[in-house]
Amino acid sequence: MVFNDMEFCPDCGAMLMPKKGIIRCRCGFEKSLSNEDIKKQYYMDGEKNPEAKVIVTDSNNVALPTTTITCYKCGGTKGYWWTVQTRSADEAPTNFIRCAKCGNTWRSSN
Ligand SMILES: [Zn+2]
Ligand SMILES: [Zn+2]
Repeated sequence: MVFNDMEFCPDCGAMLMPKKGIIRCRCGFEKSLSNEDIKKQYYMDGEKNPEAKVIVTDSNNVALPTTTITCYKCGGTKGYWWTVQTRSADEAPTNFIRCAKCGNTWRSSN
């Protein structure tokens, strides 16, 4: 988590360090943060990795085309593939392949 702005105690002016959604000052001042406050003030680690989310979402798709593969985990030869536009539309879409036998998922190089 990264601080965007600091909070200061309205009673004594000390710098406040929120812990688990609650701000607690040495003078006794206390304030709980709403989820909205927390979202505004902190950068959530999960948002750094949007591609991981994409893989999880697409793995629920049952109508994927099949292809012949060589799974590096189990040696399986049947796999599913799908294409994901990962970032901006300027970038080439990425192909993902999933082993039908063990569910191992990886990025295709072409
Ligand atoms: Zn205080
Ligand atoms: Zn496999």
